[in-house]
Amino acid sequence: RVLVSMRNVSKLFSNGTLALKDMTLNVQRGEFLSLLGPSGCGKSTALRIIAGLGEPSTGSIDWPSSQLDSRGKPKGDIGFVFQEPTLMPWATVFSNVYLPLRLSGVSKSDARPRIMDVLASVGLADFHKAYPRELSGGMKMRVSIARALVTKPKLLLMDEPFAALDEITRQKLNDDVLRLWRDSGITVIFVTHSVFESAFLSNRIVVMRARPGQVYSDLPIKTSLT
Ligand code: ADP
Ligand code: ADP
Repeated sequence: RVLVSMRNVSKLFSNGTLALKDMTLNVQRGEFLSLLGPSGCGKSTALRIIAGLGEPSTGSIDWPSSQLDSRGKPKGDIGFVFQEPTLMPWATVFSNVYLPLRLSGVSKSDARPRIMDVLASVGLADFHKAYPRELSGGMKMRVSIARALVTKPKLLLMDEPFAALDEITRQKLNDDVLRLWRDSGITVIFVTHSVFESAFLSNRIVVMRARPGQVYSDLPIKTSLT
């Protein structure tokens, strides 16, 4: 049932910062895992290493062989949502969401149904022709989520995605993410420093401690929502 494991991962940056120390974490298929801890404890570093956006200094990221394709690469894509929506300002909502499919060579006409589907799932079907500057912060974040989901990834990584949004927008997005997770069976790792958010969203909370980044406790939780 394991999707991916961090095994004894440490990360020492070239400036001497030890961001992670001997972190081990088994991510189970289908779980909604919150990675909770104070600023600077290494949450983003851990997420980036799982995504392959950074190399561990020691230790490894292991995918079970059932999760690897014939070339030994993890099957399927990994979706990543950052705190900054990082949309291309010159491109429409449609084109922004098309980007990952375009990069993997899918034609626009083949991609269209999937793009419209995923935009509908985040409540933005009517905005496919809009430009990012015409959208609110919450809507831009929805576009960013749609772009992360358009390739139907098995794993969705979210790095404090809603930290810059107002409380009401944030709560609406939390509701939507929970619904998307329930409907899709995707595995989510959600980085946050909000105890409230982690309790609301997840069925497992992994708490990290600062200096140096290490797992402090690992709580399976059962809520009425999950
Ligand atoms: P590595 O040791 O993995 O090569 P580097 O120290 O070279 O990493 O930094 C990689 C990138 O991260 C650089 O672009 C650098 O400017 C940026 N960076 C450096 N310090 C920090 C920091 N404290 N927080 C976030 N990013 C940083
Ligand atoms: P969090 O996501 O929990 O706020 P980070 O993973 O961003 O923590 O950072 C963990 C520690 O590593 C911090 O001390 C941060 O300044 C440092 N750090 C992060 N990225 C880099 C980098 N590229 N180069 C040097 N130090 C970094």
